[in-house]
Amino acid sequence: MNKTPLETWIAGQVLPVGEAVLTPQLLEQYQFRKLQEVVSNVMHNSPFYRRLFAGIGERGVDDLAAFKRLPFTTPDDVREQGMRLLCTSQDEIERIVTLQTSGTTGAAKRLFFTAADLELTVDFFRHGMQTMVERGRTVIIFLPGALPDSVGDLLSRALADIGVTPVVHGPVRDYAAARAEILRHESPCLVGIPTQILALARGTGSEVIPHGWVSSVLLSTDYVPAAIKAELERLWGCHVLGHYGLTETGLGGGVECLAGDGYHLREADLYTEIVDPDTGQPVAEGVSGEVVFTTLTRQGMPLVRYRTGDLARILPEPCPCGTVLKRLERVQGRIAATLTMQQGMSLSMSMLDEALFPMAGVLNFTAEVTRTEDQDQLHLCLQVCEGEEERVARKVVSILFHAEQIAPLFLQRVLTVGSITFSVEGWLTTGVGKRRIKDNRF
Ligand SMILES: [Zn+2]
Repeated sequence: MNKTPLETWIAGQVLPVGEAVLTPQLLEQYQFRKLQEVVSNVMHNSPFYRRLFAGIGERGVDDLAAFKRLPFTTPDDVREQGMRLLCTSQDEIERIVTLQTSGTTGAAKRLFFTAADLELTVDFFRHGMQTMVERGRTVIIFLPGALPDSVGDLLSRALADIGVTPVVHGPVRDYAAARAEILRHESPCLVGIPTQILALARGTGSEVIPHGWVSSVLLSTDYVPAAIKAELERLWGCHVLGHYGLTETGLGGGVECLAGDGYHLREADLYTEIVDPDTGQPVAEGVSGEVVFTTLTRQGMPLVRYRTGDLARILPEPCPCGTVLKRLERVQGRIAATLTMQQGMSLSMSMLDEALFPMAGVLNFTAEVTRTEDQDQLHLCLQVCEGEEERVARKVVSILFHAEQIAPLFLQRVLTVGSITFSVEGWLTTGVGKRRIKDNRF
């Protein structure tokens, strides 16, 4: 198995003169040096961080333990403080990404990038994509790409640089048109959002794409359901790998190698910690917690100990590809998207995903939990293939009652099934928003 191409790339950024082989120790030394630089930079140049880190003094952080005692940066800080996080003049900002999210303040989250920041992301895409494509191949990008410096545009530039033909299709809005695009190119690699690519492989009309036609798929989102990956591999007989990236990580974050078991991260650009979501303390090696990262090379708006709200762990075993880089396990979902249920139980979108996506005919769904007289009820609206409503309706309750993670909720009567409704195929979200259970209990 080929080693992740990220290792050679990162070695080139990290290794001091005279060293030829990347080791975990050299990477740690590089990262700690960068962390000290970042802390010093933000304290001198960002009004927000000057105040946040006022207690640590001019000396900055002397060791990693001191760094890990620094206060976190939260999504609310980014929303509320905005430009106070900037470390460069506004003139140097090349792109601002505005994220309308359900924050506590209602303000939009805005992230600022310089041209150099964007170039680092393009460089990550250039190397990361070599995991699954080589010169002469075609990649169809089902991600937003119309705007300059959007994720699709950056990816497209990266691919052109390595001799791969990029086709920027944008998010799927018309299944037939998207499938026709796939058929126009021999053995294409597809990059897209999990539920959208699943709909292309499974929905009505999907039989036009022969098994084996698509060479590989890269699913790009904060969270990839294992059931969707498995189903795409079965239907198309191709490699399906995941990309983990948030706007905050600079759109690109990490990509799986051919082992397909965890993301290798941009470790020269990002320092990752896993912390207990409740206490904020570091968890033991291999334990799940909240992903927290610090940007090591970002110029416009560096982020220090930024809480992503994503739940994952660093896999303790070495990767089968043989790299010295770490692996972030496939993200298990959003902490905020996990509902606390009675009797200390919980329910998350990822639990529903793993239960429902293995069902043939299911393309997507929305979920809502309500409460009547102390009893929580789950309501589902499923998007299914044409003519599949009856078959899916007959099976869905039994699937829920037998799903390993969800069944206990029903058995303990913590949850009951409310309404199950269907929406016809063609109901499409652009899928770029985060999927979550609507909690209407209170
Ligand atoms: Zn690997």
